[in-house]
Amino acid sequence: MESKIDRKKHLIKMSSFMLSGMLILTLQATDVKAANPVVLVIDPGHGGNDSGAVGTYNGKSYYEKNMTLSIAKELKTQLEATGRYRIYMTRETDTYKSLTYRTDYAREKNADALISVHINSAGSSATGAEVEIPNTSLYPQLHTEGENIANSILKEISSLGIKKRGAFTRDSANGTKYSDGSIADYYAIVRGAKSNAMTGIIIEHAFISNPTELGKYLSSENKLKTLGRADAKGINNYYSIHEPVSIVRESDYALVYDYNYYINKYSDIKKAYGTNRNAVFNHFLTYGMNEGRQAIASFNVSYYKQNYADLQKAYGNDTKAYFNHYIKYGYNEGRVADKLISSNTKPTSPIQNVTTYKGVNYAAVYNQDYYYKNNPSLQSQYKATDGAGLIKNFVEGGMAKGLRASANFDVNSYRLEYPDLRAAYGDNLKSYYMHYIRYGAKEKRKTTGTTQMVGYVTKLDGVDYSSVYDFNYYINKYSDLKNAYGAYNDQAVLSHFVKYGMNEGRQAKATFDVNSYRLEYTDLRAAYGDNLKSYYMHYIRYGAKEKRKTTGTTQMVGYVTKLNGIDYSAVYDFNFYINKYSDLKKAYGTYNDQAVLNHFVKYGMKESRQASSQFILSYYRANYEDLRKAYGNNNAAYYLHYIKYGKNEGRIANRLPQPNTITRPTAPNNSQSSQNTTSQLYEISGAPKATEAQMVKYYSSKANFPTYYSSHDSEVKTINDFVHVYYQEATAEGIRPEVAFAQMCNETGFLTYTGKVKIEQYNFAGLGSIDISKPSNTFKSVREGIRAHIQHLKAYAIKNPILKYPLVDARYQYVTKGSAQYVEWLGSQENPNGVGWATDKDYGNILRKIINDILAVK
Ligand SMILES: [Zn+2]
Repeated sequence: MESKIDRKKHLIKMSSFMLSGMLILTLQATDVKAANPVVLVIDPGHGGNDSGAVGTYNGKSYYEKNMTLSIAKELKTQLEATGRYRIYMTRETDTYKSLTYRTDYAREKNADALISVHINSAGSSATGAEVEIPNTSLYPQLHTEGENIANSILKEISSLGIKKRGAFTRDSANGTKYSDGSIADYYAIVRGAKSNAMTGIIIEHAFISNPTELGKYLSSENKLKTLGRADAKGINNYYSIHEPVSIVRESDYALVYDYNYYINKYSDIKKAYGTNRNAVFNHFLTYGMNEGRQAIASFNVSYYKQNYADLQKAYGNDTKAYFNHYIKYGYNEGRVADKLISSNTKPTSPIQNVTTYKGVNYAAVYNQDYYYKNNPSLQSQYKATDGAGLIKNFVEGGMAKGLRASANFDVNSYRLEYPDLRAAYGDNLKSYYMHYIRYGAKEKRKTTGTTQMVGYVTKLDGVDYSSVYDFNYYINKYSDLKNAYGAYNDQAVLSHFVKYGMNEGRQAKATFDVNSYRLEYTDLRAAYGDNLKSYYMHYIRYGAKEKRKTTGTTQMVGYVTKLNGIDYSAVYDFNFYINKYSDLKKAYGTYNDQAVLNHFVKYGMKESRQASSQFILSYYRANYEDLRKAYGNNNAAYYLHYIKYGKNEGRIANRLPQPNTITRPTAPNNSQSSQNTTSQLYEISGAPKATEAQMVKYYSSKANFPTYYSSHDSEVKTINDFVHVYYQEATAEGIRPEVAFAQMCNETGFLTYTGKVKIEQYNFAGLGSIDISKPSNTFKSVREGIRAHIQHLKAYAIKNPILKYPLVDARYQYVTKGSAQYVEWLGSQENPNGVGWATDKDYGNILRKIINDILAVK
């Protein structure tokens, strides 16, 4: 044991400095190179006439000094067995060694850490293991390293069943200070190690004063070896992922120390330490600076001292202090240390950049010139040379406002980068600056360039949402959240996500889209329905492990196609159906496949709605006379026929049959054959050959006139009205009405609108639907739509057309006038000029067949 009191006081103190230096080691985590062994000095507590604490169990006395030696020997054996450590012991027999001897020995060995092994003692009910670690003074990194090693060891000891008390620091009770004026550590082992720039810790394994603990964990050689193995495991776990801090430490002195420069400049050092980098650095730390040795070309302490009277006044002959001043302030202040400044160029006041206010130097976060230039509002209040006023403004107001005062420190970046600081300081911006000045600079924390929050909170009430939630993605995607919570409140934003965001189906991570997830998985839809949050929770708990697909699905996979024993998939595609009819999408949403199928079976088929690219009722009906005879106007019967028989019979349900019985017209090669051939072609212009009655009768044999028009256009109640308008508009322009009407039947699928054009557009000839990127034309009424159709047809049929009515066809100007005089030439593949209304093969010939059918109507 090392005597101790006031445990509670320590616990309270802990929280105040927990923050400093927590991150540096984890950030530096790298594999330890076997070639570079970790050097540890293991110190079995007490020995010789110092027996340490004594305990009794079952009538037998036990001495701490013997127990510590047993534990330490096992610890050494275990660590050496890994081949990665060089281990030294302060004693290997029952001999007395002073505390000073022990820390001097560790320095002599250039250890990375000094590990002191002890057994605790207090009352008989005291229980558990604890580790004494360095406080944050002098080298905060040693505190961090000590704490991390301690926790790693305590984890192993507590796994044996011994209570974990914690890792504790303790400050000197009598005001002892370190060389930089900061409060020293209480325990000699910890303090002595730190004075040699080394981490020292004391492991108090259990209480010898507690008979139960003594009996259970300390009363045999085997039990003590078990503790030694736990120590070894904890220590090795730590060094497996961290480099010893003594290596990291070197970088703190980078402004004044360069290993290669130092070793090459001083042959005595090279001779003494060879290439033992730790030893060389420790020499510099312990002796080199005090002796005024130069360890880097850019810093010569003798020049530095001679150049600056203010420093001479402050530090006198304390050579080491000049090194430290340069690291902390001088370099930032632009002071010269690599040459002597001649007396006539020496500035009268060495400090033009005032960075100190009420005894605190803000140089790490403040540059007077930068502050003045970067914050224009200051320029009306201060002169650029008002150093005292500007630093006062910065300290008393600027920091709280988060004003930037140095190219090297951006408080917003600092805040975004470090979760430990955000947890401690919240919106108190000044604290971030102060932390950097006190600890962050020494820890070499990152101070600029961070624009996304690092280490944001992802856990709430024990659930980790990170697989579906990314704070930065979420806050940047939804401006309402950014307006409400700002850019830093990760806790509140996560709460929003959990409470509302998931229920609202908001996307909070690029790699998880709840809509895609829902569309992709039938099992999830069956289980969760409209409960969106459940989909997120499923992914967190199971989906991620199952590597389920989470993005890119826009069509429902595995939708329902069966109802009452009938599989409708031959005529029904949920995604096709829902996307074709906006009324359905509006009524049922994008996910209710069951309800949409119900609609289709109950209403959709009767209403001759199209639910698949493979089945179009108007074509199926038009193509087969036997079906028309059997089913008449019973629309649903056609769908069911196709499902049960038609598909298997190879019946055509998605187009009109190919006109392979029609003779293919050929292009006229000379005037003679041209005469003969063209006489068989059907001229688009001219007097009508069909009657209105024939067109009405023909249409009615193929389809039912849609009810849409009677409720939207007062002029057109019936197919008779519709044909009449075609007849009027066509004859007015000298175009044959049966040609236009046949084309309408083909383009609209007998007004069922199976393509991109919708019924409400009054577009009867696919006008303007030349490519999918542009919407097709829309007209105000049936008559205007038909007029545009006739005008467009006239443009093809006649070389110098004169229109009777004002132009309503928006694409009229694009037609090469008179380029398709005949119906058959409306297809560009059959047109001798290579142009035409459509590029589909036999387009004109299909129209010609419809015209023939109209003319055949009796
Ligand atoms: Zn002890």
